[in-house]
Amino acid sequence: MSRESMEYDVVIIGGGPSGLSTAIKLKQLDSNLNICLLEKASEIGAHILSGNVFETRALDELLPNWRELNAPIKTKVTKEKFLFLGKTKSLSWPTWLLPTVQQNHKNYIISLANLCRWLAEQAENLGVEIFPGFPASEILYNEDGSVKGVATQDMGIDKDGNKKDSFEPGIELLGKVTVFAEGCRGHLGKQLIEKFELNKGKDPQQYGIGFKEIWEIEDKNHEEGLVMHTAGWPLDNNTYGGSFMYHAENKQVFLGYVIGLDYKNPHLSPYDEFQRFKTHPAIKKIIEGGKRISYGARALIEGGFQSLPKMFMPGALLVGCDAGTLNMPKIKGSHTAMKSGIIAAETINEHLKETKDLSIYENKFKNSWLYKELYEARNVKPSFSWGANFRNYFYRNRPNFI
Ligand SMILES: Cc1cc2nc3c(=O)[nH]c(=O)nc-3n(C[C@H](O)[C@H](O)[C@H](O)COP(=O)(O)OP(=O)(O)OC[C@H]3O[C@@H](n4cnc5c(N)ncnc54)[C@H](O)[C@@H]3O)c2cc1C
Repeated sequence: MSRESMEYDVVIIGGGPSGLSTAIKLKQLDSNLNICLLEKASEIGAHILSGNVFETRALDELLPNWRELNAPIKTKVTKEKFLFLGKTKSLSWPTWLLPTVQQNHKNYIISLANLCRWLAEQAENLGVEIFPGFPASEILYNEDGSVKGVATQDMGIDKDGNKKDSFEPGIELLGKVTVFAEGCRGHLGKQLIEKFELNKGKDPQQYGIGFKEIWEIEDKNHEEGLVMHTAGWPLDNNTYGGSFMYHAENKQVFLGYVIGLDYKNPHLSPYDEFQRFKTHPAIKKIIEGGKRISYGARALIEGGFQSLPKMFMPGALLVGCDAGTLNMPKIKGSHTAMKSGIIAAETINEHLKETKDLSIYENKFKNSWLYKELYEARNVKPSFSWGANFRNYFYRNRPNFI
């Protein structure tokens, strides 16, 4: 079967924060570059789980005038709460006692999907070709084994694998460099990590599952700018996880729960724990009388610094959560994904202009604030067992709390 092919300087797979930042930075560095970006969702943002506390550090570097460009970043974090939950009671923990990485006073409560839509607009204004509705399904290789590009999925195949009348073969998109920005557990990224042994000598990757619901709540319960996190009930002391509730504009709250997938109890159902959590009096009183307007779930990549694979290979780079740049103690991966995209763009620009090897990515990454941030956060998740001991001690000494 012959497939049509199109040639670009750079092909980017994934229209999340990392892929879009790569595209924008590349065009800023050289407006003559031909860049295409494939997104599997029907439109940019449609597969992004909305609701996010956003650190602007990478965006400040990428588009310092984002305020004038009317970026959808309006609600500043004005207040923070951290609650330890027992079955019916809750104890407020002073947020100044939390590690600084978990404090949010300079951040914003945003819809990440809207931010991606806006980033896509900026990219298109710079001349990036964005193709939504096109999942990249196959990696293409040159004879020397380097990555040559990707092929999109064939369309019009029935459930038994037979071609329907509407059959159309996929298209080959060939790039001098291909950037994989598929997000956590990207299926092409996983193949590349295995083929090029990018994770050799690294700790095994770790994952979590995150649920997010958007609620419209009653005015009296809404405090725009409030960020609230909880730990404790309904999870037992050996399960890594907790909740978040972000009060955004328009009486909306982004409510969610994250559970590490290394939980020991095989009967635990993360989704049901989330639903149970919403019945706690401290949570119920906020959402009661409100309406859930959307919901979703997404895997999170939690291994951090120790599990971060090599992010370059012949002909291609891995960026964002496809590699694993999320900062777990912060529960933030948007700004780190964006920064990894910026570094990727700088690498590609030098690679194309000065024929430097893509391995310069590593040095650039090591000299960046992203490396420093992930390095500093590296022991927080592993020290969870210490945290669990602390919680056991706390509950033992306050039996009435439960
Ligand atoms: C519940 C939850 C809460 C979170 N809260 C926060 C928070 O408050 N603050 C924060 O900073 N971060 C948060 N994060 C993390 C943040 O969402 C991610 O770190 C960030 O989105 C990673 O960006 P990315 O570009 O690497 O990947 P993604 O945002 O996952 O984007 C990947 C894109 O690629 C597309 N794609 C995937 N495969 C293909 C393919 N084969 N072909 C074409 N397109 C493809 C996807 O549809 C998607 O649009 C949270 C994550 C979860 C799950």
